[in-house]
Amino acid sequence: MIRPKLLLLAALSAVAPAQAPASKEIEAVYPDAHALYLDLHQNPELSAHETQTAAKLAARLRSAGYDVTEHVGGTGVVALLRNGAGPTIMLRTELDALPVEEKTGLPYASKVRAKDDSGREVPVMHACGHDLHMAALLGTAEVMARNKDTWHGTLVLIGQPAEEGFGGAKAMLNDGLFTRFPKPDVAVALQRRKHIPGRDSWNHTRRLQHEFRFNTDHDLR
Ligand SMILES: [Zn+2]
Repeated sequence: MIRPKLLLLAALSAVAPAQAPASKEIEAVYPDAHALYLDLHQNPELSAHETQTAAKLAARLRSAGYDVTEHVGGTGVVALLRNGAGPTIMLRTELDALPVEEKTGLPYASKVRAKDDSGREVPVMHACGHDLHMAALLGTAEVMARNKDTWHGTLVLIGQPAEEGFGGAKAMLNDGLFTRFPKPDVAVALQRRKHIPGRDSWNHTRRLQHEFRFNTDHDLR
């Protein structure tokens, strides 16, 4: 059975590093996921310009054992892990950041500025948490690859460009997301809450965890 809690716990670990990882599986992949989170947070890229972000995610997934295709619908990434007969599950992360100035004062705060599509220079920040989503996806990817004896089926991980501009999903579909790659039986995405990083994320992910378990406990065996 795929254990959805791992995705969610990986997310929690990334957003609240002071909390101890909740299992040995998470502990094993946490350093990689956290390192990616810090790197992405300090190097955000605007919608449809996520070149380095996509390359970093693709490289990490490839070294985790995934069959990775890049440049799907622009900068999109598709990573497959086939593990025998069974359902096809898709997990999605976004790649892009927002034209927002970071004022958190964190040691790893973004100082990036870039030109937007109109040629105007803007500050750039992962203000929507897509860096967290990518780190959670990587953590999950590594857990699933290291524990293939505990599940069967096909895992499809996607990195979607230009979520903030609303064009990236369509671009991936138009580039054959569901024809060139296995069509999923279930698709799951993570969404963090913006208000209070630790507490709201916890509450929200607990709810998602329940929903996902409810939907998939039988399907994924
Ligand atoms: Zn977003």
